[in-house]
Amino acid sequence: MAAEKRKMKRIGVLCSGGDCSGMNPCVRAVVRSAIYYGIEPFAIYRGYQGMIENQIKPMCGRDVAGIGNRGGTIIGSARSQEFLTKAGRKKAIKNLHAHGIGGLVVIGGDGSFHGAEALCKESDVLTIGVPGTIDNDLEGTDFTIGYDTAVNVALDALDKIRDTAASHDRIFFIEVMGRHAGYIALEVGIAGGAEDVLIPETSSDVPGLAKKLVEGRAKGKMSSIVVVAEGDEEGGAFEVAGKVGKLAQIPARVSVLGHMQRGGIPTAADRLLASRLGLAAVRELRAGNSGVMVGVVSGKIKTTKLCNSWESHRKVTPELLDLVKILSI
Ligand code: ATP
Repeated sequence: MAAEKRKMKRIGVLCSGGDCSGMNPCVRAVVRSAIYYGIEPFAIYRGYQGMIENQIKPMCGRDVAGIGNRGGTIIGSARSQEFLTKAGRKKAIKNLHAHGIGGLVVIGGDGSFHGAEALCKESDVLTIGVPGTIDNDLEGTDFTIGYDTAVNVALDALDKIRDTAASHDRIFFIEVMGRHAGYIALEVGIAGGAEDVLIPETSSDVPGLAKKLVEGRAKGKMSSIVVVAEGDEEGGAFEVAGKVGKLAQIPARVSVLGHMQRGGIPTAADRLLASRLGLAAVRELRAGNSGVMVGVVSGKIKTTKLCNSWESHRKVTPELLDLVKILSI
């Protein structure tokens, strides 16, 4: 086997970019899978920045006990400006070599995978990506780790806002995360019975929305919820509420959910996905593979070249857009 040829003895795991719920069970899965296969696992704290600063420590099975149900990541995550430079990456690679680390698992989003790709090109360290981001915007996996939890956290908040909206006959604009991707907004909107969902992938019709809200009131709809992804081209929830308010002459309330969407106890779906992908990543390293992301497509583990994971942003399915329109009549 290729791994035996390369004598893979030690691997590192790091979390990078925005944190998300499910990173912990993934770290646990990588550490324990490595131990199972006789490979020594190392945690690299604070992502690529920790790799540059040599924050690298050996892990044992007990170090990851009881973390599977905890949000965030016990090994920290970071964004690193220094890693964007060749000099920074050179320092990081030197530290990996000093620890005898021949394989790396990078849990993160597309930015982190660009870093992983650079490592593949500039070093002999085998590198595997695991999709960990609330955005669910990577090709090569049906879901990214953290997405399901983020949707459920946001939906819980929407349901609570619905209570007050219904009691006071109010229109609420709820802003959810998604600078470039509208998946959270779309699924939360459908599950929460939103009047409309505004996302970056489609052009938003503000006059049409204003008209719909006025007509809804005339039909007897006294409370309405509009979900806005933060990156919508019409602006965030405050901007959209302002524009719609002017046209419709209906007072509206705004709630920006913000960082709460990154936290929370990982859902069963996220824990399972994180566990499966952690094991899959270790198996890829054992097989001597590098430069790929592991994902789950139609229930099965699949690998995708790192560069293909971010090249075309996943498109939202027309079926989901239809659901919003049809179910909000
Ligand atoms: P999220 O989707 O949650 O934002 P992400 O992985 O996309 O996660 P980024 O902040 O875009 O998060 O990237 C994380 C880190 O990856 C950056 O801080 C940087 O250190 C590294 N990185 C990003 N792009 C590159 C690149 N082109 N070359 C080398 N490293 C990169």
